[in-house]
Amino acid sequence: MDMFNPEQALWETRREFGEHGGVAPSIERSSTFTVMDPCMMPEIFNGVRGPEKNGCYLYSRHVNPTVRVLSRYMAAMEGTETAVGTASGMAAISCTLMQLCKAGDHIVSSDTIYGGTHALLSELLPDAGIQTTFVPPGNTSAFAAAIQPNTRVIYTEGVSNPTLSVADIPALSRLAKSHGLRLVVDNTFTPMLLSPARLGADVVVYSITKFINGASDLIAGAICADKAFVARLLDLHQGRLMLLGPTMDPRVAFDVIQRLPHLGLRMREHGHRAMAVARHLSKLGAAVQYPGLPSHPHHDRINAIMNKAYGYGGILTVDCGTQNKAEALMSQLQNHERFGLIAVSLGYYDTLMSCSGSSTASEIPSEKQCEIGISPGLVRLSVGYTGSMEARIEQIERAVRTCGLM
Ligand SMILES: *Cc1c(COP(=O)(O)O)cnc(C)c1O
Repeated sequence: MDMFNPEQALWETRREFGEHGGVAPSIERSSTFTVMDPCMMPEIFNGVRGPEKNGCYLYSRHVNPTVRVLSRYMAAMEGTETAVGTASGMAAISCTLMQLCKAGDHIVSSDTIYGGTHALLSELLPDAGIQTTFVPPGNTSAFAAAIQPNTRVIYTEGVSNPTLSVADIPALSRLAKSHGLRLVVDNTFTPMLLSPARLGADVVVYSITKFINGASDLIAGAICADKAFVARLLDLHQGRLMLLGPTMDPRVAFDVIQRLPHLGLRMREHGHRAMAVARHLSKLGAAVQYPGLPSHPHHDRINAIMNKAYGYGGILTVDCGTQNKAEALMSQLQNHERFGLIAVSLGYYDTLMSCSGSSTASEIPSEKQCEIGISPGLVRLSVGYTGSMEARIEQIERAVRTCGLM
């Protein structure tokens, strides 16, 4: 495969200037748009005119100019034809799956996914007549074995939450293509470092809330795909995004636009810091998992598919054995060492820590959690980049010693 540089791709796309030549884009807050000639209105409704056809906007739940700028940048970064911003990551995921599947259809999904997505697939979509078979993310033949005549979608996270399994995206793409299915990849953990569409995914979904925004101050998502699929999502009669209505706010789009230029820098620094912490914990004998460590079961796989120069991402896990020990470690790290904050979510500039089994994966039943490798003592760290790295390493070493984890 030819080299892809997402940062370069992002900055080769046409830059958007503000209304008065400002270096930052303007925020178009209008919900509705003036139509210069009444005879144009029917043409807009039947698709003869539109944002890409003579610059005619209609209504901001359909297409908003500022959201469209962010969508264009997201598409450039992913190497997809187009993209669309959504109100949240869950909106991106649910609208994508509900657009690709109708009652009677079937999904084959990785079993190790964000808790909200697991609940959507196992509890909400069955009410709409859409069933899912869950399989281990690392095992492509398990995906193949679960395909049925009514299967429409293969769903996986690029790097899974929270067990950090790496999906073999090229192999899953070949499998999907050979059965006429769509491969949907949630790339929330690994923006820039994985480019799933370039590896064969049909649709890439994001929670922008996490690394892409990076400031934990807004909720947003995106769907990156081909033009035909995004047009279906925005269709006035059947579009799930248009009719269920989880639209991105233009002010949110503006904030994210202003943070995309340093996403590459941030991912590199998250990766650099997480690697140092992972190496140190591993040296101390703690049960650390990180895709950048040669001991990680999918280290070679991620090396084969990643865009080099961004490191291996900002997320690592430490298995403390029991929930009590996990809580003791997090408390020590937050309240004594000031190493990080006990909070769900990820991709913030400070380190965020949570015990996955009892928080973001709690929608997955506990027997199932054990089966897929989420131990009750598993602490997920989203490693931030504040403070000096040397001081951070000393803090985590002290906390691990105090809690008797080595
Ligand atoms: C947070 C998260 C989501 C959901 O995103 P929201 O923006 O909170 O709706 C989906 N997938 C993954 C992997 C996540 O971490």
